[in-house]
Amino acid sequence: MINTLSFKYTIRRSHRATKTRIVVTTEKIEVVAPMRVSARQIHAFVSMKQDWVVKAQNKLNIEVKAQKKWGAAHYSDGVLVPYQGQQIKLSLQPSSVKKVKIELHEQEFKICFSACSPGQDDSELIRLSLMDWMKAQARKRVTTYVALHAEKYQLYPRLVKIKTQKSRWGSCGIHNDIHINWLLIMAPPEVLEYVVVHELCHIKERNHSTRFWSLVAQHLPEYQKQRLWLRQHGRRLMQGL
Ligand SMILES: [Zn+2]
Repeated sequence: MINTLSFKYTIRRSHRATKTRIVVTTEKIEVVAPMRVSARQIHAFVSMKQDWVVKAQNKLNIEVKAQKKWGAAHYSDGVLVPYQGQQIKLSLQPSSVKKVKIELHEQEFKICFSACSPGQDDSELIRLSLMDWMKAQARKRVTTYVALHAEKYQLYPRLVKIKTQKSRWGSCGIHNDIHINWLLIMAPPEVLEYVVVHELCHIKERNHSTRFWSLVAQHLPEYQKQRLWLRQHGRRLMQGL
């Protein structure tokens, strides 16, 4: 690490590199250099490219921020919130109720809540309430999908739990306990159904063999579409509400 610039960078020597190049990510700046290039030459090169590096990293940070979350940046009246593959408008109705009440009516989330004192921000209260509501909906949906698919090949889980998971959509333990990530309630319904089926199929096939995938296909012939959806949107969805 060298500190004379406005940023730090690391050096990686490469036998295959023919030229020195700078790799910018949101986490770090790495210089990949051929073995023969000296540290001093590398530093001169980075100094020369300083403006470019700063600009590249700023641009990247803005892009990442813009697509960081599937949910809204701020939960206020009129904002759109993803739910079952659709964008649902928030209609905030401050009232004197003690508990936050959420109802889904004709493409609108009607949210009754007692507003904070003027000047305070209700966004976090709304976000947390929506999260609880969505978890409960996810539980209902998952139960429905289990009932729909378990019978066909006797794939009965011991228990089914809705979880908040940072890196996976679902899991099936050795005792056939199935965990499903509640965030999937924001995805199109077929995607949640696919993940439920995927985990149910692990009761019979513990791996991702051809036999496993053909079992999935027997439940959901179009499961590839849902896998693709997860590949395309999963990272953003994982960021949560
Ligand atoms: Zn699997």
